Amino acid sequence: MANIDQLSARQIAAGIAAGDFSATEVARATLDAIDVREDGVQAFLQVSADLALEAAAKTDARRAAGEELGPLAGVPVAFKDNMHLIGTRTTCASRMLENYESTFTATCVQRMICAGATPVGKTNMDEFAFGSSTESSAFHRTNNPWDTSRVPGGSSGGSAAAVAAGEVTLSLGSDTGGSIRQPASFCGVVGLKPTYGAVSRYGVVAFGSSLDQVGPFGRSVEDVALAMNALVAGGRDTLDSTSQELPVDFVAQLEDSAEGMRVGIIPALMEHEGLSAEVRAGLGRARAALEDQGVQIVEVDLPNMASAIAAYYVIGPSEAFSNLARFDGVRFGYQEPGCATLAEQTALSRAHGFGAEAKRRQMLGAYLLAAGVYDKYYYPAQQVRTLITQDYRNAYQSCDAIMLPCAPTTAWRFGEVSDPTQMYASDLFTISNNIAGNGGVSVPVGREEGTGMPLAVQLQGPAFADHTLLRVARAVERGIAGTDAFVPGTVAPAFVGKGGELA
Ligand code: GLN
Repeated sequence: MANIDQLSARQIAAGIAAGDFSATEVARATLDAIDVREDGVQAFLQVSADLALEAAAKTDARRAAGEELGPLAGVPVAFKDNMHLIGTRTTCASRMLENYESTFTATCVQRMICAGATPVGKTNMDEFAFGSSTESSAFHRTNNPWDTSRVPGGSSGGSAAAVAAGEVTLSLGSDTGGSIRQPASFCGVVGLKPTYGAVSRYGVVAFGSSLDQVGPFGRSVEDVALAMNALVAGGRDTLDSTSQELPVDFVAQLEDSAEGMRVGIIPALMEHEGLSAEVRAGLGRARAALEDQGVQIVEVDLPNMASAIAAYYVIGPSEAFSNLARFDGVRFGYQEPGCATLAEQTALSRAHGFGAEAKRRQMLGAYLLAAGVYDKYYYPAQQVRTLITQDYRNAYQSCDAIMLPCAPTTAWRFGEVSDPTQMYASDLFTISNNIAGNGGVSVPVGREEGTGMPLAVQLQGPAFADHTLLRVARAVERGIAGTDAFVPGTVAPAFVGKGGELA
């Protein structure tokens, strides 16, 4: 029979409903695939075999009782380790929370499970989601499944890699400045950062509260759309005050023709130094695929984009400093033993609990919010934020979506980018969307000549038009599939068929 890595979310749910295989068989095949592949990928911080088999058994019992199955029935899903799930630890890949047992379940996780999904574990990430390569995890690195000497991107690197290696069908990540879209592009999978407020963050450890958003990874646009349906089902979550009702079906319009839609491109961005020729070629390929389907390409401008990195690296660390104050060894987190005073205990708990990047961000935030400094940096950053938001509003007067790179290059080798500011600079194309609060999606468009690494484009859209965005993403996927060796749903070659056989 089939290997688990060849099946889409829809095929798994349909196969279970039809009795072709059981949810338990799918869970076992998934655990087997993880068992065999994890050595090479290291995407997980924790595999929750018991939870997976328990959830799968419930799904099978529902079917046996003739009850209706959810749209994600039996679909294996992994969660970034900043999402609470009872029965697992939630470490944020930090020593600070190494032994922290979840005391409740995040809404996003709960909704996936309510839709029938089988939770299989928690994935590696940059510590507290600070980073673009998953190298700042306190525990281990995660390898890019397409070339294990390269980074998977970050901060949701484990979630992207697990899907790319065929260890799970779907995963969730969080995106504060690109942490879903960039690892999706590095790993050759689809990753959606929904509009701010579209998905509840209740139960997700906060980084930058005005920027954070949860979203799905999958090997196809359709799988991501199915996950979105699950994430918005149930409407507004009153436990997250930014959560909004989003009564749309993300799957229904996916196959509608994209003819007549307008996609904006930003000519000035194509001239950006550091944008690799291959990434530019990938954009050209996506553009041709869209034009073939009757999409009109229009030129737009985001004149304040050049200030986005500066604004983000003021707002993000400031909010992170405030959010991470709770990890003091008393309220939460690692507590240094044997201290004589509370001050010493706080200082040493934080000194030993946090890694270098987490410290850097918090020190930066502490400085930026200090009296006298605030007016110089934080306040202007908020003004830039307004300008960028306005730029997007203007641009969306003349287009339905904007197409741009996800990252300037494909995935780099471990250790290749070690200067933090160089890493921050690579976030150029993703962070403006978080600043404006809009949705964005990364779609694979082929592989880089020579290295074979995945190439992707990013599509951004107006607020709460994430379903339209997925429709354009599907058009790119459809167009590319016809023109290139790239096949949507592809698992990284080295991992295809390794374990995971459905008995
Ligand atoms: N790379 C960005 C940062 O380090 C984005 C991180 C994220 O989205 N969580 O801040």
